[in-house]
This record gives sequence, C-alpha cells and structure tokens, in this order.
Amino acid sequence: MATSAARSVRLGGLRQWWGVIAAALLIAAWVNKAAGPASVAVLSGLVLIWCFFQAPVTCAAPVRGREDGCRNNATGLLMGCHIRQHRWQKLKMLFLRRQLRAFFSGLFSDGKAALVTLAAIGSFLSGIAAFVPGLVVG
Ligand SMILES: [Zn+2]
Repeated sequence: MATSAARSVRLGGLRQWWGVIAAALLIAAWVNKAAGPASVAVLSGLVLIWCFFQAPVTCAAPVRGREDGCRNNATGLLMGCHIRQHRWQKLKMLFLRRQLRAFFSGLFSDGKAALVTLAAIGSFLSGIAAFVPGLVVG
C-alpha cells in the first residue's frame, strides 16, 4: 500500500514536469534546423502554458504578516494554491500597477519559481521569434 502511494506520487510529480520535456524539445527544435518555425511556435506555446498554468511552483500570494507570501504548492505562475482567494489575489496583482512589483518579485521568490519564470520568458521570446521571417533557420 505504501509503495503504490509512493509510485503515484512519483508519477504525479513527473506529470507536473512535462513542460521541462517540452522545453527540451523546444531547444532541440531551435538547434535542429529541420524543425522549422511551426514546431518552434507550437512548442513555445506549450512551454508557456505549462509555466503559467501547470508548473509546480510556490503560491507566493501575499499573506498578511508574511514577507515571503504563501508557501503552499501552486500549479503555474499565474495560479495560486488550493486557497481560491490566492488565485484571484495573484491575478489582481497583475492588473494593479502598485502590486506588479510584488508579483514579479514573487516570480523569483525561489530557485524553482525563477527557473519556471525564465522558461516562460524564453519560450515567449522564441514564440515571437518563430514568426519573424528569416530568424528561425528552417
Ligand atoms: Zn496560497
């Protein structure tokens, strides 16, 4: 019983990280000239979706009396943890200029979040680059 639980946890953990595989494929698509702009664009989109809505990061929603915010696990940079209020809080932060800085500092609150943020920025840029003629070798 204990082993089956451990296995499902491990599988669940793996499933959370499919974006890393997509990111690796994206890099491969950039390196491999035969991949072409279409696959670069698709993979960029997948990585971006993963970063925003799936990546296993810390919630980091602002919590009264806590400098570093909520430490619960969240799915994606834009999503909060299981506390539904945090999800709205994070979305609200994006639209309030006063809180935007706090939102971005939350994106780099720990190594994992920084990694996912960088992956989001990288895939966003590569997605744009895919539509610039002549930039993607293919
Ligand atoms: Zn939270």
